[in-house]
Amino acid sequence: MNLTVGLTGGIASGKSLAGDLFRSHGVEVIDADQVARDVVTPGHPGLLELVDHFGPDILETDGSLARRRMRERVFNDPEARRELESILHPLIQAELARQRDASTGIYCILMVPLLARSGMRVLVNRILVVDTSEASQISRLCKRDNISQELAKKMLDAQETRQERLAVADDVLFNSGEPALLDAPIERLHQHYLKLARGQVDSSLRLHLPESHSVP
Ligand code: ADP
Repeated sequence: MNLTVGLTGGIASGKSLAGDLFRSHGVEVIDADQVARDVVTPGHPGLLELVDHFGPDILETDGSLARRRMRERVFNDPEARRELESILHPLIQAELARQRDASTGIYCILMVPLLARSGMRVLVNRILVVDTSEASQISRLCKRDNISQELAKKMLDAQETRQERLAVADDVLFNSGEPALLDAPIERLHQHYLKLARGQVDSSLRLHLPESHSVP
């Protein structure tokens, strides 16, 4: 495999939707959120290390991770959050690298939230940011997760800013219209990545799609 594209974007920007459209072209899309869930399943070293560190209270009676309790534990304790991340991030990164290396396509996509601030950037050759206004992020998030505007706003504030993401973008997919309007830009990006992976275009060529949108 010749090219790994990091697909990122703010919460509810449309990453999963974009990932599904790439999959419909036969591209392997590796989902970091899924890997983060997998590394704490029973029997996995990630869960054993967490129990070693935080104690058995973080387990449900069936031996699975009590996610809510774990979240509450680190919520107001930055030190505990750092410890949690220092245990899990290397495991997640190693598993993402393993799946990327096992991928047999001409290119693959790693879907990683918060890629702009993360050490996971070393795993990718190129970054595609799904971009949308904060107002649409908030309204989609409220609808998708059935939460209040206030909570949605807080969740956005806890993330990277739109500017931080755009600053690391090679390509930008602007997702502000109807979902169906993504089909053509995704097809263009897919063709572009195939050519990049085959060395047929220069990697300095960046796509901001749809072309009518210029990045603020
Ligand atoms: P992410 O994976 O970035 O968190 P999703 O792909 O889950 O975002 O999109 C968030 C929500 O917004 C989903 O319910 C999705 O169906 C919806 N959505 C995504 N793009 C659009 C769009 N262009 N118009 C309307 N709704 C959208």
